[in-house]
Amino acid sequence: MRLFRPLILPLLASALLSVPVGAQAETGPSYVQPTPAVPPPIDHAFAGTIELDVDATDIRRRIFSVHQRIPVAAGAITLLYPRWEPASHGPSLTVTDLAGLTIEAEGRRLAWRRDPYEPHAFHLDVPPGTKAIDVRFQMVAGDALLTPDVVAVPWQRLTLYPAGWYARNIPVSARLTLPGGFRPFTALNVRDSEGPIVRFEPTSLEILLDAPVLAGRYTAQVPLTAPGPGAVSLDIVALRTGDLTVPEARIAEIKRLIVQMRAVFGATPFAQYHILARLSDDGSSGGTEHRTSSENGLASSHFRDWQAEILSRDLIAHEIVHAWNGFYRTPADLWAPTPNVPVAGSLLWVYEGQTEFWGRVLATRAGQFTPAELRDRLALEAAEIAARPGREWRPLSDDVNYPSFMLRQPVPWRDWQRRRDYYSEGVMLWLAVDAELRERSGGTRSIDDFAHSFFAGATPDAPSRTYTFADLCKALNQVAPGDWAGFLRSWLDGHAELDTTSGLVRHGWRLVFTDIPTAAFRANENEGGVVDLSYSIGLTARSDGTIRAVSWDSPSFEAGLRPGVRILAVNGTPYGRDVLLAAVRDAANHPVVLTVEQDGEQRETPIRYVGTLRYPRLDRIPGRPDTLAALLTAR
Ligand SMILES: [Zn+2]
Repeated sequence: MRLFRPLILPLLASALLSVPVGAQAETGPSYVQPTPAVPPPIDHAFAGTIELDVDATDIRRRIFSVHQRIPVAAGAITLLYPRWEPASHGPSLTVTDLAGLTIEAEGRRLAWRRDPYEPHAFHLDVPPGTKAIDVRFQMVAGDALLTPDVVAVPWQRLTLYPAGWYARNIPVSARLTLPGGFRPFTALNVRDSEGPIVRFEPTSLEILLDAPVLAGRYTAQVPLTAPGPGAVSLDIVALRTGDLTVPEARIAEIKRLIVQMRAVFGATPFAQYHILARLSDDGSSGGTEHRTSSENGLASSHFRDWQAEILSRDLIAHEIVHAWNGFYRTPADLWAPTPNVPVAGSLLWVYEGQTEFWGRVLATRAGQFTPAELRDRLALEAAEIAARPGREWRPLSDDVNYPSFMLRQPVPWRDWQRRRDYYSEGVMLWLAVDAELRERSGGTRSIDDFAHSFFAGATPDAPSRTYTFADLCKALNQVAPGDWAGFLRSWLDGHAELDTTSGLVRHGWRLVFTDIPTAAFRANENEGGVVDLSYSIGLTARSDGTIRAVSWDSPSFEAGLRPGVRILAVNGTPYGRDVLLAAVRDAANHPVVLTVEQDGEQRETPIRYVGTLRYPRLDRIPGRPDTLAALLTAR
């Protein structure tokens, strides 16, 4: 903005003089609360069926084209673009991705107005006599979704729907056009297909949004159970034919996994379940849960290079557990009738924490980990969660608010700020719950008994059963009576006094540190691309010497280091992983001095650390029964 002072100033001066003396001039404007203009969701029938037509063929420009025909009545209506995702538990969708929106009635263009307070809402007036509107738009953020060999179709980013109904009340008939030669996998029922066009059986918006399509040029489907009710298949989409062959041993393990799951959770909340596995040369990208399928981003070498996959071997287990723990049983404050109303995560330590726990346990019962490998995994997270100084100001009961404000936000001081600790801390917590159940029942009951009762009654058609903290305590009390609210609250609200390794200790194992890293620890370093000295001098560094993390209150922290600073030399020798390791190994005899580049200058930084390398592992506690072994034994 450019100001012309000679003109503006006299104008301003006269304006100031002309302000009448009154309340506003002295105290400022009064706030007027905006009236909500988006109709709230109501549980009532929707007249008609939305036709949804998605064109996923533009893999060059990576743009989806959408055409919807939405039944309407005359008058004011509001269309919503989903904002909240069940899997992220937060407002992770952005309407920035939607472009080119046009709305027509019988070929006549209708004007729409975006809601200024809820940008995912579009208001319009439907003229009298109109039975349906045609809605067209593009979804332009298809980079990871539309590729030459793989197409992923996230319906929640490709759909507008009328406000005022529960998603389960809105019937949708979807049609998808794929690039030629692609084979689709999905939990949706296919009505028919004609060349690249797939038509799905009409379903509810709720089910559609929870049933993505994964399609590709190189595909394989491996049945994991007998066909029929509760059948599970592994649906693989790869970048090349050679990656589609899964060794028999891996298939046998996943088959055992399904058997072990049923032994714990009982009847399935799905008629059929599809493990959608997308193999990528970029490594594992994590998973997304749904009730009747899951999206699993795995390394192209996942099934071949099993040794290297120690951190993602239980991903598939984790995501299937969610069919029960997350979809069939849902925390009351996480359940939402549409993807446009907020949810809260007070029970994410159950939704994610217990799922992570069962993923570890069931994968081991199925043989995907040896008990020793699993213990190394547990040592990794036991050490990480024990070293969380941030618990001093943020207990677990606040960490669960992560999705509402921290999604995709960088966190430079992870152990102090805390970020999504409810996964790993949840594993420690549920180990403690199992130990507590065993102790209170004199060794006759365990967490398996809790799961039998808490997840009982699942059927493919059973709606989600929501639960509260009180319901959870009641269910635990039925397995082994006691003050479960007090027990759990001490974990959830505990600060520095909380011993997060207590569950492991009661299972007969303690966290110790030695100077040799476990295979799991090395895998974790590789995945992060760092050398990890969190438990000695208190930093992790990339191969070029850039510090990725500094542990709060550690010797490196005391030396004034922070993430982003670059280590140039160690004790006068140019930086290298082995140079740094050798220096820390010998730190008891020879002080470590780092030459760093920080704030535009080089400086010598002595690290006040007397000791050697320290890596976590679990050690048996003599005389205590090994109930961890009992927990990990196949049922
Ligand atoms: Zn999860």
